[in-house]
Amino acid sequence: MAEQEYDLIVVGSGAGALLGAIRAQEQGLKTLVVEKTELFGGTSALSGGGIWIPVNYDQKRAGVKDDLETAFSYMKRCVRGMASDDRVLAYVETANKMAEYLRQIGIPYQCIPKYADYYPHIEGSMPGGRTMDPVDFNAAKLGLPALETMRPGPPGNLILGRMSINAFEAHSMLAREVKSRFRLVGMMLKYFLDYPWRNKTRRDRRLTGGQALIGGLLTAARKVGLEMWNKAAMQELLQDASGRVIGLVVEKDGQRLQLKAKRGVLLGAGGFERNQQMRDQYLNKPTNAEWTATPVGCNTGDAHRAGEAAGAQLALMDWSWGVPTMDVPKEPTFRGIFVERSLPGCMVVNAKGQRFLNESGPYPEFQQAMLAEQAKGNGGAPAWIVFGADFRAQNPMGPLMPGSAVPDSKLRKSWLNTVYWKGETLEELAKQIGVDAEGLKDSARKMTEYAKTGKDLDFDRGGNVFDRYYGDPRMKNPNLGAIDKGPFYAMRFWPGEIGTKGGLLTDREARVLDKEGKIIPGLYCVGNNSASVMGPSYPGAGATLGPAMTFAYRAIAEMQGKA
Ligand code: FAD
Repeated sequence: MAEQEYDLIVVGSGAGALLGAIRAQEQGLKTLVVEKTELFGGTSALSGGGIWIPVNYDQKRAGVKDDLETAFSYMKRCVRGMASDDRVLAYVETANKMAEYLRQIGIPYQCIPKYADYYPHIEGSMPGGRTMDPVDFNAAKLGLPALETMRPGPPGNLILGRMSINAFEAHSMLAREVKSRFRLVGMMLKYFLDYPWRNKTRRDRRLTGGQALIGGLLTAARKVGLEMWNKAAMQELLQDASGRVIGLVVEKDGQRLQLKAKRGVLLGAGGFERNQQMRDQYLNKPTNAEWTATPVGCNTGDAHRAGEAAGAQLALMDWSWGVPTMDVPKEPTFRGIFVERSLPGCMVVNAKGQRFLNESGPYPEFQQAMLAEQAKGNGGAPAWIVFGADFRAQNPMGPLMPGSAVPDSKLRKSWLNTVYWKGETLEELAKQIGVDAEGLKDSARKMTEYAKTGKDLDFDRGGNVFDRYYGDPRMKNPNLGAIDKGPFYAMRFWPGEIGTKGGLLTDREARVLDKEGKIIPGLYCVGNNSASVMGPSYPGAGATLGPAMTFAYRAIAEMQGKA
């Protein structure tokens, strides 16, 4: 077996792994990244790129007031004792330093003043300003062919299957701001007139969201001369007689290579959502690897198993970053439905045709409610999102563009009764989707009534600032609309996720702990490979990528004796 030596070996190429590797290389550690698939970026490249950063550098510009104590108390309440105070504090104290570092290496972020924390009812939450989104990144800085080695974003994020759109633009369009139309036209013109770039690649020069983040990180990686291997899967960790992790075995080009790591190994190999056996073992049922919105072939828990074999303690293994997902033909993964379900004029029902949740609430709780409903025997997995003609005309839902732009007659024929179901009446629709008709009619009647009064008496949809962010400000309650005009439509939701959140238990410096709580020397872990610092919760948008990169930042500081 061939042998090579590095200071640090980083497993995986998501945001946490890359940030840690860049920081280490820049600080003089000879670092290698091993990525098992052909493409770099993992789920992070598919993501919105948002990071949840309390007390961040951009809040002042946005006129947002925040402080560490309030942020800590909010996060601590969210976490419900399922991550140590020590780690929570380390996160709150370091997140902005990490964000500053991102800016320093060429990846600036902006805070979103009106995007609220996910639990407005919990003390210490903010009505906006803790979530930051990446500024658009020019792919020319990364260049070709390097861009082609980056995992592309989800097709559903592209306008006309080609043009990137960022979160600010998406929100502005959904909020029907007049300027959004001009922006859209401008964006299209810019894309189509950019012949020099379009002649070289179909991929948009303008990278947004997770593409901007990973594009920026890959550019920074090149600048610091980071060595990165693709199609190189970590197989096992190597330990010396004292238990110290001293390297790993990787399979590359059909060869098993033994790589030594003098300072340590940083695991950032994602979750285990693509491993059905591990899902069956750990997650709530029903569970299916196909329902996930993360890339095929990436996150199969390899490094969970390798860490476990090295003596690591696992925690939070039954939790995931849940989201309802949809199966869209020809898309490589199921599509996470984050936004559209919040718009007025739709409702989500179980097999009895009854609503069972606040459709506009945070997505992890949405997925948990689906599973709970299924467990009660009411049929929540799948659940159905139902809307009438008005909603269909004005709003997108998954792959369906608003009917005013793409009417039913222009939709692919094969989508009827596979992607969407349609009935002239609610009875007809109920029959097609196998849902109780009386229940469905009753739910639609109530929803129509609530839209008039502006008050959802069952689930208080639209009752808080978070719900209202993705609503229609013209309505009495931005999240409530009548469902009274046919034809009526239904689409199927699955209890999917954007990653699992259980993994190797770590301390405040991302050092992996063994079953007795002792540090395993030389082993560090970040991202969905580790047990999340967020415990069972999702305090705000960006609560997965923020910690992944922040703890990678801390791990490198610890390795250098600067923690
Ligand atoms: P990943 O980014 O998935 O990277 C893991 C990498 O490790 C993969 O490339 C994988 O192939 C590689 N790997 C696995 N096993 C091995 C092995 N044996 N050897 C070598 N390499 C290996 N989160 C946010 O915080 N903010 C958002 O805005 C956001 N938006 C999202 C939008 C969508 C549509 C989706 C799907 C997710 C979103 N998320 C968001 C969630 C977020 O993307 C993930 O939680 C995060 O990317 C996980 O990062 P990671 O580094 O742990 O794993």
